[in-house]
Amino acid sequence: MTKPVFRFAPSPNGRLHLGHAYSALLNDALARRFDGRFLLRIEDIDITRCRPEYESAIYEDLAWLGLDWERPVRRQSEHFSDYRSAFQSLKGRGLAYPCFCSRKQIAERIEAIEAESGESWPRDPDGAPLYPGTCKGLPPDEIARMIGSGEAHAWRIDSEAVRRLLPAPLVFTRFTPDGATDIVEADPWGWGDAVIVRKDVPTSYHLSVVVDDALQGVTHIVRGRDLEAATDLHVLLQKLLGLVTPLYHHHGLVLDSGGDKLAKSRRSQALSELRALGETAAEIRRRLGFAPQPIPST
Ligand code: GLU
Repeated sequence: MTKPVFRFAPSPNGRLHLGHAYSALLNDALARRFDGRFLLRIEDIDITRCRPEYESAIYEDLAWLGLDWERPVRRQSEHFSDYRSAFQSLKGRGLAYPCFCSRKQIAERIEAIEAESGESWPRDPDGAPLYPGTCKGLPPDEIARMIGSGEAHAWRIDSEAVRRLLPAPLVFTRFTPDGATDIVEADPWGWGDAVIVRKDVPTSYHLSVVVDDALQGVTHIVRGRDLEAATDLHVLLQKLLGLVTPLYHHHGLVLDSGGDKLAKSRRSQALSELRALGETAAEIRRRLGFAPQPIPST
């Protein structure tokens, strides 16, 4: 029987904090409990924000916590061609369209719609306003002219076209750390026409994550509740790309003393800082609810 495959997939755009440690330790503990494999993937598509020193720090912090992972580590920036082929398959079926709008143009358009209707425009699960479809109806010759003249553009999923193609409800299996499962319905439509290829890089988080999870044979995805809504979109992309949908577990988030989610952008205390203050890996592991040393696989 093939073994379950778990993965921890950080982005090297800052130092890891306790929230990352929790996610990595939980993946490792579950891989051990279910006699599975544990992979590490470096999600570095954002070439402007990701740095080699953060990547080295990830290896250092995880090893310090007592974790070990399979080599070679998959680094997303080395696999843009895989994401490109997945995108071509969506584009080839007319499921994506180019979008030339800047963020400012989108915001202005929405402001105008809201002013005219007196109603607030819907937001996606991350709180960003849904794309108002400005570029959707552009005539093909205009699109060809703009792309030909080198205009920067993203690609968006055409959610209406996708919905016509997939009328049945989308479902996936959720699992709990003790192995219980249930089937839940995914509702990706609240994301509207999400960006699947960014303007600045030839992919997006959503596209690369589903392509990689499938290519690496990941069977169990364990990640924070902050990505729970993204799973709905991932299940949709898996269906469109003919990929197997893994099982999902979204764990609770480690909060700071003010009750806020830890974040690199909020400069939450890094593991390396805790280490420099004299905290031991065993203390951190215990603090997060894990055994002070990894429990050997069964
Ligand atoms: N790279 C993402 C992050 O650092 C996590 C992706 C995932 O687990 O699916 O937030």
